[in-house]
Amino acid sequence: MTDADAAFEQSAGPASSRVFLALGANLGDREANLRMAVRLLTARARVVGVSSLYRSPAVVREGTPPGPDYLNAVCEIATKLPPHALLRFVKTIEHEVGRRPAPRWSARPIDIDILLYGEEVIETDELTVPHAMLCERDFVLVPLAELAPEVVHPRARRRVGELAEDVAYHGLEHVAGPEWAGERTSRDAG
Ligand code: ADP
Ligand code: MG
Repeated sequence: MTDADAAFEQSAGPASSRVFLALGANLGDREANLRMAVRLLTARARVVGVSSLYRSPAVVREGTPPGPDYLNAVCEIATKLPPHALLRFVKTIEHEVGRRPAPRWSARPIDIDILLYGEEVIETDELTVPHAMLCERDFVLVPLAELAPEVVHPRARRRVGELAEDVAYHGLEHVAGPEWAGERTSRDAG
């Protein structure tokens, strides 16, 4: 790919939406997995910003042993990919990082969820945007609020900053600042 091709792939569409992804890992070298995911995103997206890194306990499900803690972060991207194509793209990244089909709540080397795609409200078999659990999860709302406290959740019609202030904490811990990603983002470039 030439530099010009790369620049095209990473540019956003005409009416560019602010797109936010949640990244989580609780298997293998979790931080390396997250870093790899951020790097792989740059094939089809520009990484606008990356949140701090957090640790959170795996959600406990009845009848399954508690999994290892997660490392979590949120990343803002700009991309030409429409929502369903973006979902397919993030699934290829999950596969590249080493995720294989497994039961729903099992430990995974990487999970990439689409949190927000601009103001879009999407409800299909494959994709729910805003992410169905966004308002309840400290490990996505807190890092999201670092990047975009003023962004409004198009269903809840409340600012992300407000939602993060009201969310119940379940053992969320700050691990490192945004430099963990080792990624030069558009924010860094000013
Ligand atoms: P989870 O993220 O819920 O722990 P998975 O990563 O296995 O579980 O995702 C299960 C399915 O959820 C995916 O195959 C995808 O089709 C669907 N899905 C629905 N909405 C979203 C979203 N906003 N982001 C990512 N996946 C989503
Ligand atoms: Mg997922």
